[in-house]
Formats: sequence, C-alpha cells, structure tokens
Amino acid sequence: MQYALCGVDNRVWEAADFSRLPSAQLSQYRDSLTCVECNALAWFRRASTHGHPAHFCAHHESTCQLKAEYVPVDNDQGDGTEVVDQIQSSGDIVVRLSDDQGGDIDVVERPPVPVGPEGQGGRTHQVRGRDFLSNQQFSLRRVLHRLVQSPDFRRSASTISFFRPDGRQLIHGQVRDVTKAFSEITNEDDGAAKFFWGPITSARRTDDGKIWLNSSPQYQSVSVVIFDDIADRFLDAFGIEDLDDLAGAHVLVSGRCAFSGQRGIKPIIWCGALYQIVIRRYRAANLTVAG
Ligand SMILES: [Zn+2]
Repeated sequence: MQYALCGVDNRVWEAADFSRLPSAQLSQYRDSLTCVECNALAWFRRASTHGHPAHFCAHHESTCQLKAEYVPVDNDQGDGTEVVDQIQSSGDIVVRLSDDQGGDIDVVERPPVPVGPEGQGGRTHQVRGRDFLSNQQFSLRRVLHRLVQSPDFRRSASTISFFRPDGRQLIHGQVRDVTKAFSEITNEDDGAAKFFWGPITSARRTDDGKIWLNSSPQYQSVSVVIFDDIADRFLDAFGIEDLDDLAGAHVLVSGRCAFSGQRGIKPIIWCGALYQIVIRRYRAANLTVAG
C-alpha cells in the first residue's frame, strides 16, 4: 500500500516520501507504522529489496479495505492441515527442537516412520520415537503458525513440551502459560522459560555482530537479540539475504527476557541458540504498489 500512519509524528506518510527520510529517522519511524484504515501493524519496504517501488505492507484486520493477501515465503503452510488440528486438539503436543528448523526444514529428511492412517491430507507427523506415538508432534514452525492463526490455540490448556536437540526438556506446560505474545509480556516474564512470539517491523545488525529484530510500540517495542556467534547461521537457516526481508515476519523465540530502556519497560529477548527461534516470513501474493 502507498500510505501508512507513523505513530512517532502522527503523520500519514506516502511510501516514496518515507523512503527519502534520513536513515536514522527512517529507522525510528519504521517501527511505529500502522494501516491508515484498520490500525494494524504495518511495515515499510524499500524500493530496492524486491525490485518494486517503496511501499508499505500491513497485517490488516480481515475487514480492512486495504487488505492484501500475503503468503508465507518458502511455501510454509504451517506443515499441517487445519482439519487434522481440530480432530487431534486434545492430545499433548511435543516439539523436538533442532538447529535446522530454518527455511527448508519442511522439505528435507522427513523420517519414514509411522504417520497414522493414509489420506490424512498432508499431515506431516514427525514421529521419532515410540514413546511419543500418542502425542501430537509439532515443529516449532507449526507452533508459530498456530499461535498466529488461532486465538483458541493461544488460550489452549493443552500440554506442550519442547525438547532440546540433545533430548533434554527445555520448556513444559500449558500452551497458554508457556507461550506469550509480545503484547502481553509483563515483568513476571523476566527470566521466565517461555516462548515469546510477535511481529517484527525492522531488523538491523550492530557493530558487535548481533542482530536485533524490532517490533512496534503496539507490541511493547519488544526486541529479540540474536547473539553474534549464531547470527550468520541464523541468516543462512532462514534464507535471509537482506535484513529488510524480515520486516513483517512473525518470530517465535525462547531466551532470557529482560527489561531495558530508559524506563526499564522495554522487553528484550536474548536468543543464544538457533534451535530456540523460528521465523515466518511473508510476501504479497500479488505484489502491487496499491496493495
Ligand atoms: Zn488495514
């Protein structure tokens, strides 16, 4: 879309004008954009990123007139069908984390092991041990997909267990307790073992090599920090060539949540391991400037 409202100066910006802002100002403003119609979180795309003119995108409300259709990058459909999710919503959820859950995890090395009855419509049931046959196996990517899509899942009392690559349990509890939206993080989450999720509006790499993923004031300006020693592998794993490509993506991450900023209220999540994070990127299904 061509216009977006910036919460910093409370002005409606045209995309080309916005792109000509001084870089420091643009960096600040781009984290505070919303749709002029529905107030949903919006983000800015530079002209050069995908060969299109500078434009804004947003996670519009379903009723928004400016609504555009977005499809996940990498054909990521959440690796499961909604129908199956409904049917099996009562089982415990097991998530086996791995270092390679980035971009292509859904198309490589699916274990040739029992997947239940034939014809379950694309269900990708990753059963890796006999002990877990009665559980639902989710990838971290799928957990993020469900959190984004389903308020019922966010409030679910289903038990979910996350296991590290070495098999040790990382986090265990009810979905509603151990996952937390950026907008709902409180002081009680300081240091808590949880998965946090929300949308990113910008990303940048600092001189010390860390990557900062930033969200908007609507989401408490949460930042996720990827430590420098895993930053390059993070970019590789998710096929990120330009940090601007992360604008509008959803992230699900576990890591130490601490509070920072002048008033000590800005949540920062420190991510030190690749298996603790997954990204879901989007591109416009039918990319037009007016979209
Ligand atoms: Zn909108």
